[in-house]
Amino acid sequence: MKFFIFFILLLTTMNASDLKPWTKNIEQLSDEEKYVILNKGTERPFVGKYTHEKSRGIYTCKLCDAPLFDSSSKFDSRSGWPSFDDAIEGAIKIVPDADGRREEIVCANCGAHLGHVFKGEGFTPKNTRHCVNSISLNLVKKQDQKDVNLSYAYFAGGCFWGVEYYLQKLDGVKEVISGFMGGHVKNPSYYEVVRSNTGHLETVEVVYESDKISYEKLARAFFEIHDPTQANGQGPDVGEQYLSAVFVNNDDETNAIKKLIEELESNGYKVATKILPKSEFYAADESHQDYYEKKGSRPYCHGYTKRFK
Ligand SMILES: [Zn+2]
Repeated sequence: MKFFIFFILLLTTMNASDLKPWTKNIEQLSDEEKYVILNKGTERPFVGKYTHEKSRGIYTCKLCDAPLFDSSSKFDSRSGWPSFDDAIEGAIKIVPDADGRREEIVCANCGAHLGHVFKGEGFTPKNTRHCVNSISLNLVKKQDQKDVNLSYAYFAGGCFWGVEYYLQKLDGVKEVISGFMGGHVKNPSYYEVVRSNTGHLETVEVVYESDKISYEKLARAFFEIHDPTQANGQGPDVGEQYLSAVFVNNDDETNAIKKLIEELESNGYKVATKILPKSEFYAADESHQDYYEKKGSRPYCHGYTKRFK
């Protein structure tokens, strides 16, 4: 009986926000967040914070914190929005979009607008792309096991747009990010580096699965998609920021590169590529990522040339 009275009391003191604890979060949303999450807007492509995110963890609903997507289902669709080929079971609801064509996806718990789902595009074996606004999500990173399955390699071979373009195509490469390394300026802008006073080289960060592609295989590709014999830059791009270099993480990588250079030299190439210790990598801003895919064109100074026998 005591319990029953308590229960009645509880019911009578409850209001809407007790029933839906996330409703109080609505007032904390920014205007941009409200535009997407409540009014079903779409953020501009290539600007969301999770478009290129590669950390392991769980993506949760910005409004109600419900877990929605595991990072293992995330893939790079080059669409400009985070893409997942699967959702956590029961986490999302598919509803017909008001446009009468697309299928909208919302958080099954709170109804927050997430994005749309597309099927049959052939990106991954699941053949499904949940195209989600970054702004609808939070990422809870798995700090303790962050990126355990991923390895990182750093190559500088002239204009990073072209190096990224070709290395991205290799099986086992999860992502290639254009950026800068080797200089003395923190967080350099593209124009600072172009003005050639930062010491940075245009460098790509290759994120790869070492059980699918070896470092040596990556490095071989690097030597065959740029000209390692050019000492003053790459193609028409002349200057220290365009020099050929490999930034190495450890002795194994140093030895692998030395061996490949010896092999090239025995094949008659005078290799100008430097071996440098890895230092801090600074990603270039979004307008330099996936440059050729966005423009729908092909690199002007990189191409494949067979140099190893
Ligand atoms: Zn939610």
